[in-house]
Amino acid sequence: MSTNTDPKPDPKSLTPEQWKQKLDPDAYRVLREAGTERAFTGKHLAEKRLGTFSCAACEAKLFKSDAKFESGCGWPSFFEPFDGAIDEREDTTHGMVRTEVRCAACGSHLGHVFPDGPPPTGIRYCINSVCLAFDPAE
Ligand SMILES: [Zn+2]
Repeated sequence: MSTNTDPKPDPKSLTPEQWKQKLDPDAYRVLREAGTERAFTGKHLAEKRLGTFSCAACEAKLFKSDAKFESGCGWPSFFEPFDGAIDEREDTTHGMVRTEVRCAACGSHLGHVFPDGPPPTGIRYCINSVCLAFDPAE
């Protein structure tokens, strides 16, 4: 395992009680219980400034603002994450086969990925706003 002396605990080792103290109830429900915020309600949907989107649970960098695009689906959409930032897994809930995306650093649910995005990747990461923290560029 890691030998560094970073005082931050490994986010993957936090208990549900610790996550509840760290996150507000809406964020907890989506990030830790794979919920979904209502379409067109998210705070980052119309964000157009340059900057970086990070995981709201653990602050790992997930997406650059220049990979964000307007998909019309009601959630912030991105065509490309930072390398290694995202874990994908098959999700068969709600009678559909979808690909769930999670933060690779802390395992929190972020949203889903679909094969209908714009060039150059052709994929669409459909991410709940409540799972993201935005850091505008100077
Ligand atoms: Zn995270």
